[in-house]
Amino acid sequence: MPIYEYLCRRCNTIFQFLVRNPSGSTAPVCPECGEGDRMEKVMSTFSVKSGSSSIEDMADDPSLAGLDTEDPKAMASAIRRMADEMGEDLGPEVNEALSRLEAGEDPEKIERDLEESGFDMSSGSSSPSRAPGLYEA
Ligand SMILES: [Zn+2]
Repeated sequence: MPIYEYLCRRCNTIFQFLVRNPSGSTAPVCPECGEGDRMEKVMSTFSVKSGSSSIEDMADDPSLAGLDTEDPKAMASAIRRMADEMGEDLGPEVNEALSRLEAGEDPEKIERDLEESGFDMSSGSSSPSRAPGLYEA
């Protein structure tokens, strides 16, 4: 069973969930506050403040396993699909980058442009804390 990380926007805490049904689209309920609709699946790119985040890192998500990262178009549409399923708003910068990926532009150039525009892949609210333990979804 895969383990997914979910961020509760309300508690600003990341919880680890053992997911019995990975294909199910419903997010688990927050073990802390009981809120169900503010849980957000965490993508490694957005949670890790390593500075090494890249468009290709997005493809490291387990739900994208087996994806051909050499095919930018497939990658872009997979990222869009993933964001869609999670109800994630990628923001105009990333949407623009994905459009360019789909148009066949060089991923490294797109990434450089993203960085030059001051876009920080790890931007967002203050970094969430991480709850110990494993919960069942
Ligand atoms: Zn919560």
